[in-house]
Amino acid sequence: MPGYELIDSEEENQISKVFKEGNGVLFRHGFENIRNNSFKVAEFEKKFATYFKTNYSLAVSSGTAALRVALAALNIGRGDEVITQSFTFVATVESIIESGATPICTEIDDTLNMDPSDLENKITKNTKAVIVVHMLGNPARISKIKDICKKNNIYLIEDTAWGCGGKLKDTFLGTWGDIGTFSFDFAKTITTGEGGMLVFKSQSIYEKAAAWHDHGHENNPKVPRWEDTRSSSGFNYRMSELQGAVGLAQLSKLDYIIKKHRENKKKIWDQIKDINSIKIRVSPEFSFETAESLIFNVENKKIASRCRIELLKNGLGTKILPEALTWHFAATWDHMKSLSNAHQNKLKDDFPVSTELLRRSVSIPINIFMSEDIPIKIKKSILKAIS
Ligand SMILES: *Cc1c(COP(=O)(O)O)cnc(C)c1O
Repeated sequence: MPGYELIDSEEENQISKVFKEGNGVLFRHGFENIRNNSFKVAEFEKKFATYFKTNYSLAVSSGTAALRVALAALNIGRGDEVITQSFTFVATVESIIESGATPICTEIDDTLNMDPSDLENKITKNTKAVIVVHMLGNPARISKIKDICKKNNIYLIEDTAWGCGGKLKDTFLGTWGDIGTFSFDFAKTITTGEGGMLVFKSQSIYEKAAAWHDHGHENNPKVPRWEDTRSSSGFNYRMSELQGAVGLAQLSKLDYIIKKHRENKKKIWDQIKDINSIKIRVSPEFSFETAESLIFNVENKKIASRCRIELLKNGLGTKILPEALTWHFAATWDHMKSLSNAHQNKLKDDFPVSTELLRRSVSIPINIFMSEDIPIKIKKSILKAIS
């Protein structure tokens, strides 16, 4: 799993600098006379943008906040429709609901991400944006999805909560569309405890987002902050200096994390790939996965849950599939009234392809540190479950 496995003296040193060098200024703006030019959030944003070869980045308080800010920056609200995919975390749809827009979900395809042809079916004259999700580190068919958005004049947002550092055809996930959003919660590839980031191509969209996440503050350099100019109202989704400090240490470890994930995923797959009745999740050609998990299909739902039971018996586990499916699958989200209404109150039956794929999927968590006997233990557990 993720960056929390690597939290050590580097994060501690960065935090300590906020106090020792920055005089304990924990706010990203102002206090220039006491902070000795220590701006951790701004430094984190700058390094993140450089790493992702993108023009602008904005740190926020969570990945969910990043999605909400993205929709605000694109002026999306009541009367608009936003399309995302049936397999994602509740946060993606929650952000659409919070914006006032109507959420619609598509089926997934064999990548377990948005099915581009179902996306085309679901576009209407009210569709303003698409939020594609690179679930658990495997790229969606983003090239195709981008073409569809372009053709229909729709904004493209990438929920890259699970794809931080992943690529398709040498282009980072999160930088294909108009806005990419990232999460640094404690389960994600790099973590700041709570936190998120947006990346942008357009300066004007970035500026709208930066103001909106900070009550509309334009941070006009000509006036002090309490006399600041504004063009619209907003909200508060700011990141604190402590999170920015941890983010700097974590970002420097991202390459190593992904390298270890990919090595360990390969070790596990090499052990189990000869098992006849399992089939690995598909990735588009030229994918560079962050390898958060290894997902495969078994014959049916019963065998999927038996896989989990056998893995648990061996001191191992699964990640999201099958045990936490209900938090990640729109067919089960009757508690979200506007989503349910938009799907004619038939959520349960509205995603037959996704249901078929997800109910018989098993997801093995990938860790940075993995003892040598894990792959063989996983193989034994699966063989027992399918026998
Ligand atoms: C984790 C996650 C989010 C939300 O991120 P938080 O930082 O926990 O708010 C959004 N979308 C997806 C797909 C996620 O997995």
